[in-house]
Amino acid sequence: YDSYAVAGGMMVGGIPIWRLPREVTHEETDEYMEALGVDMRFNTTIGRDVQLTDLVNEYQAVFIAAGCQVPKAITGPDNKVIPGVDFKGVEQGLPFLEKVNFGEPVAIGKKVVVLGGGFTAMDCCRSAIRFGAEKVYVLYRRTKEEMPSDEYEVDEAMLEHVEFQYLVTQTEILSNDGEHVSGIRMVRNKLGDPDSSGRRRPVLIPGSEYVIECDTIIAAFGQDSDSAWIPKDLALETNRWGLPLIDRNTWMTSRPGLFAGGDYTEGARNLISAIADGRDAATAINRYLSGPEKGATEAIEIELPDFRRGMVDDYEAIPWEVIPSLPLAKRFSISVESETGYSPEEAVEQARRCLQCQLNIQIDPSICILCSGCVDICPYDCISMQGLKAVVKGDKLHQIAGADWDGGADMIIDEEKCIRCGLCIVRCPTDAIAMVKYEVASVNDRWNVSKIPVIQPEKAGGRR
Ligand SMILES: Cc1cc2nc3c(=O)[nH]c(=O)nc-3n(C[C@H](O)[C@H](O)[C@H](O)COP(=O)(O)OP(=O)(O)OC[C@H]3O[C@@H](n4cnc5c(N)ncnc54)[C@H](O)[C@@H]3O)c2cc1C
Ligand code: SF4
Ligand code: SF4
Repeated sequence: YDSYAVAGGMMVGGIPIWRLPREVTHEETDEYMEALGVDMRFNTTIGRDVQLTDLVNEYQAVFIAAGCQVPKAITGPDNKVIPGVDFKGVEQGLPFLEKVNFGEPVAIGKKVVVLGGGFTAMDCCRSAIRFGAEKVYVLYRRTKEEMPSDEYEVDEAMLEHVEFQYLVTQTEILSNDGEHVSGIRMVRNKLGDPDSSGRRRPVLIPGSEYVIECDTIIAAFGQDSDSAWIPKDLALETNRWGLPLIDRNTWMTSRPGLFAGGDYTEGARNLISAIADGRDAATAINRYLSGPEKGATEAIEIELPDFRRGMVDDYEAIPWEVIPSLPLAKRFSISVESETGYSPEEAVEQARRCLQCQLNIQIDPSICILCSGCVDICPYDCISMQGLKAVVKGDKLHQIAGADWDGGADMIIDEEKCIRCGLCIVRCPTDAIAMVKYEVASVNDRWNVSKIPVIQPEKAGGRR
């Protein structure tokens, strides 16, 4: 069931066609589901056309993947809605993009202000350019470093003549005729202490107000999940925003058979995370419907040809190549994909830069002799040896050892920094380090661990 007329969620409603062609989304969603025999009911809004309670009663399992659809309010420095949000020409980002994407009439003026700095803001400002706006501003309250959107997208927008202004917050929307927007009053900020998100808080500078003239304002502060259509009669356990709480292992809500996930429960993130949630939840639902759980199948050993697992020796020397795009003059179409893409050769070359983050470095504490060889050899200082007292750990044994025994140590590996070069594995005199891959052998299985046997260079005939 989906409110939209096609499958794909934000891939078709949010992300514009000039960034993601619809032949791709059609093949990956509609055609794929049709081939699987999924009965798709489009143009159907749960809570309006069909009630969730009825679905829960009709089906053995129901999964809520409703994403984040409710645009955040246009607020000022005091977090209150600013004056003027109802003037004509003021629009929310997602409804604007939905019109762009579903071919509905779009009214874009000559001078456009986009408020915000995430995915939605980038798609709005670049769409406005494609609709012929003469001047487009993106106004963001922190600096470029804190901006959630991809640096590459900001660069592309700047190339398309979008003007970015940082450290500014909206205080009032102005209108000369009392009906249509004619400008926006902004105030400048400086960065203060970090807030709950860990990013430095914008603090307004008194007396720094200024006005930008414009005839269109698109607010792109992101979207929240909608709990309004979750019926009270289901008596679900919810968080303070009324969204169903889920068990992270099973994706199930407090009501057996009702599951939820994706951006709806996790907050707005990205496609790959939502797709991963969907896959994980499908596995959990399959287990739920299949009766008693099956045990994990035995770990599979994957023999890889060499310790570098096919990575080129000098992969760090391969620079990231900007994805080739149309020349500026040819970009001003709402339906032509801007990126032309890598050639097959370039794609293979770029793929060789992959750090294979799916692999984890693990140390077997029962054979590690704390020689610190791996610490010394790691080119990125990912491994450190810490005294037990320096490490906070939950288990009792560790706490007792930490309190009574000075000789112990913990090996800490920062997997965020690790480039999976394998040097620590080669260096370790006791073969205590391994690269480990977690995988699901089939959708019915639980997670498995596969240890990847590493062939030492000398055992591999001196090959490096
Ligand atoms: C403008 C924009 C650009 C983005 N760009 C990128 C990007 O470049 N890369 C990236 O990785 N991520 C991007 N994202 C984020 C990404 O699209 C989302 O994280 C992802 O789509 C979330 O997937 P989901 O399945 O959880 O929900 P969604 O994709 O939001 O899908 C939810 C679906 O539920 C339907 N629905 C909601 N409520 C109801 C209801 N009551 N009844 C029936 N149907 C309902 C909606 O119609 C929608 O089809 C972007 C998001 C936006 C908004
Ligand atoms: S694989 Fe390389 S980068 Fe990662 S911990 Fe080992 S030596 Fe460091
Ligand atoms: S090289 Fe091996 S034995 Fe030495 S500290 Fe590292 S993991 Fe332990």
